Amino acid sequence: MSSNKLQHIDTKLIHAGEPDQRIAGAVSLPVFQSSTFEYTGKGSYHDLKYIRLNNTPNHQALHEKLAASENAEAAVVTASGMAAISTVLLTCLSAGDHFLAQECLYGGTHDFVTNDLPNLDIDFDFIAGDTPASWQSKLKPNTKLIYVETMSNPLMQVANLKAVVSFAKENHLTSVIDNTFASPINFRPAEHGFDLSLHSCTKYLNGHSDIVAGAVIGRTDLLDKIIHKLNHLGGSLDPHACFLLHRGMKTLGVRVRYQNESALHIAQFLANHSTVETVNYPGLESHPRHMRAKELFDGCSGMLSFEVKGGLDAAEQFIHNTKLPIIAPSLGGVETLITRPATTSHSGMSPDDRHALGISDSLIRVSIGIENTQDLIADFDQALTP
Ligand code: PLP
Repeated sequence: MSSNKLQHIDTKLIHAGEPDQRIAGAVSLPVFQSSTFEYTGKGSYHDLKYIRLNNTPNHQALHEKLAASENAEAAVVTASGMAAISTVLLTCLSAGDHFLAQECLYGGTHDFVTNDLPNLDIDFDFIAGDTPASWQSKLKPNTKLIYVETMSNPLMQVANLKAVVSFAKENHLTSVIDNTFASPINFRPAEHGFDLSLHSCTKYLNGHSDIVAGAVIGRTDLLDKIIHKLNHLGGSLDPHACFLLHRGMKTLGVRVRYQNESALHIAQFLANHSTVETVNYPGLESHPRHMRAKELFDGCSGMLSFEVKGGLDAAEQFIHNTKLPIIAPSLGGVETLITRPATTSHSGMSPDDRHALGISDSLIRVSIGIENTQDLIADFDQALTP
């Protein structure tokens, strides 16, 4: 079923992309666990139905649902968030090109940008997401693209996203945003003029910490090129993982809105606790970009980070005193996860780079799940003052 732009996102998450005629009456789209399909004699290589070409019924349904979720023209699923990121950058940039990237990025993206792309003669400059006046001086005649994250991991900074879009348009750059932290519930990049939005669907979109997947959502002309590159690089999603992602997406709205609310209450609790030094959550009025977040986002996600008084030892003590959160990297699932980014998501960065960005070794990051908010607050309270 194709999506109707006027429908609410919750309706689209359930109905967009579903088959017009239910398959054998099944309410839930079955898994088409078939690597290849009968040849119809029509179309090009990229039209043959084959799992690597991301075009089986499970892929196609997801593509429509993903595009509808962000009111965008098109979408493709990928084998992981990193497959989405690497495929987009390798499609939009060639040897000799230059691009601008926000200085505080997910660790895997940071590594790819700083280690892998320069080996392919693709050059970059980091930009501070908050100071558009400084971007012009970084432009070069070969600059092709600008890359940002909706809320930066793990400090929850909110870049000047409106300025990113206008700067990209003025300078003919492709604008790319990693929208994993916000999810389509809280921010829909196409509505703000971004060309491409990327997701680690491993996180909120699937929501159950049981698959790895990614997505690219955005302009059809760019998606056509990205899909061709993806077909050759081979980062396709298995149909069973498609099925799980499809199922997870149906509950995205109820999960993420609950997580928004719960994270806000927990951030407020932490900010008022005598043993807590700082809390990073854009939903807090004390966050330096609270007004920007309010204007851009429908909610601030279930992600927050904070520092307790007493440095690294106190941070480790707190983490180990908690009983409900699971000590694990990743995020966006139904269970609360807790980690120190210096040891997990950002361990690939040098300590100097991390410290320059304000990511201290004692920073604690929490992905709030869907447990009861008061139970989580009670657990954090006993862990802070055992
Ligand atoms: N983008 C962000 C913001 C992430 O946090 C992650 C993973 O943690 C990724 C991309 C990479 O996603 P994946 O692990 O699905 O490859």
